[in-house]
Amino acid sequence: MSQTTSARTVDGSQTALAQHEIEAFGESLQGELLQPGAPGYDDARQVWNGMIDRRPALIARCTNAGDVIAAVNFGREQGLLISVRGGGHNVAGTAVCDDGLMIDLAPMKRIEVDPDARTVRAQPGVLWSELDAATQAYGLATPGGIVGSTGIAGFTLGGGIGWLSFKHGYACDNLIAADVVTAAGQLLRASDEENADLFWAIRGGGGNFGIVTSFEYRLHPLAEVLAGPVFYPASEAESVMRFYREFTADLPDELAIEAGFMTNPDGACLAALFVCYSGDPDEGERIIEPLRSFGVPVADMIGRMPYTQLQSMFDDFFPDDRQNYWKSSLIDALSDDVLDAIIASGRAMTSPYSMVFLQNPHGACHRVPRDAMAYYQRSAPYNMLILANWVDPTESDEHIGWARDLFRAVQRPDSDQVFLNFLSGDEEVGRVRSAYGENYDRLVEIKTKYDPANLFRMNQNIRPMA
Ligand SMILES: Cc1cc2nc3c(=O)[nH]c(=O)nc-3n(C[C@H](O)[C@H](O)[C@H](O)COP(=O)(O)OP(=O)(O)OC[C@H]3O[C@@H](n4cnc5c(N)ncnc54)[C@H](O)[C@@H]3O)c2cc1C
Repeated sequence: MSQTTSARTVDGSQTALAQHEIEAFGESLQGELLQPGAPGYDDARQVWNGMIDRRPALIARCTNAGDVIAAVNFGREQGLLISVRGGGHNVAGTAVCDDGLMIDLAPMKRIEVDPDARTVRAQPGVLWSELDAATQAYGLATPGGIVGSTGIAGFTLGGGIGWLSFKHGYACDNLIAADVVTAAGQLLRASDEENADLFWAIRGGGGNFGIVTSFEYRLHPLAEVLAGPVFYPASEAESVMRFYREFTADLPDELAIEAGFMTNPDGACLAALFVCYSGDPDEGERIIEPLRSFGVPVADMIGRMPYTQLQSMFDDFFPDDRQNYWKSSLIDALSDDVLDAIIASGRAMTSPYSMVFLQNPHGACHRVPRDAMAYYQRSAPYNMLILANWVDPTESDEHIGWARDLFRAVQRPDSDQVFLNFLSGDEEVGRVRSAYGENYDRLVEIKTKYDPANLFRMNQNIRPMA
């Protein structure tokens, strides 16, 4: 009797894969095909959120677009559940599946900067620390994540907010073309000129429409930034958060400020303002002077620094071995009630690694028309991030409860405003629909055209028409 491997199908049932078919698939790849027990299998299945512990039947470690095409074709022909991994940072853990086929793009690391055209092409295994280093070598940058180990792929496909987004837009606003392997195994160029519907959809529509094997971004000159945190005792939180509300009412595009709560190594809770000014630093010093003369900080660490230094400043706060449960809520106005709820929750964080933050979307990312691409949320001036982060899995209920309590206190029941990149796995269906607002119907049409069987469903899923 020939040997078989049990695997999960796209509709949730089990199928038996013949070993000779697995071997033929493995031989068709230039990268490795890993099965449970193989060296490297456990490393490859691990994603950033330590809560996620899934075991794919097969992991295809792709090295180029040809490998991705082979993997998509094998997965589709065998009817397998497929997950796609870029940088592995998605908190919901959508990069890895149980018993299905994980298409792992992490080995795809090529970066090509064109300094004259001010563009960069990057493969989907590239992380923001790597892309920033490559582009800053030429004094250029594109808006990226604020933690270096975040993957460019999932980040860009979900929108992508960073320090430079208010001057230059979200990551999806700076995408000028992409190569995409569709569910049919075709490699398509997506840009304003070619397959424009697909290009519209991948800019904010997540991994629903195919697997991107190359991203091409617009770059912007950037020498240094005036940036860093200012910390205050948590006892001053009321005045810090009210100052933040007033100061962020009308910021220039060059200035990004986040406000929040974290715990210092001695266990003291601190309120904090995090600043990045990406224009002329002298002008920046003048503009942020009211912030620097406000209150009596514990520490003021703002200074001029290379952009890459800012981009690695928070990396140590986000190691990849902890338990994480995140929620986010776009907010129209910081009422006293909202601020008081955030302050009370910030002071009552159940883990020293948890944080609460407010971001202040404004400027360039709000000037793009809502129908220009799939990404729709372009009006709320604040995004609240609730980041529950802890070590011991037996404490999960307590820390998840803390995050949910704050979310419930702040989120209006009728709110349709969602930042998809920060969704946890337990809330996707209804919130995904509302995140796309009036763009949703067009997304369903494009999904139906490029992925009618919903092969790419381990994501913030847009379902095709039946
Ligand atoms: C520490 C940390 C910091 C973060 N900071 C920010 C931030 O500053 N701003 C922000 O906007 N978000 C931020 N995020 C959220 C982040 O953008 C999302 O989690 C994003 O999904 C991560 O992309 P990835 O490639 O690393 O993820 P993965 O987990 O590898 O992928 C997530 C999903 O994206 C899809 N996908 C990935 N690659 C491809 C591809 N090549 N083609 C098609 N689909 C693909 C798949 O559906 C996959 O399941 C942060 C997350 C973490 C954990």
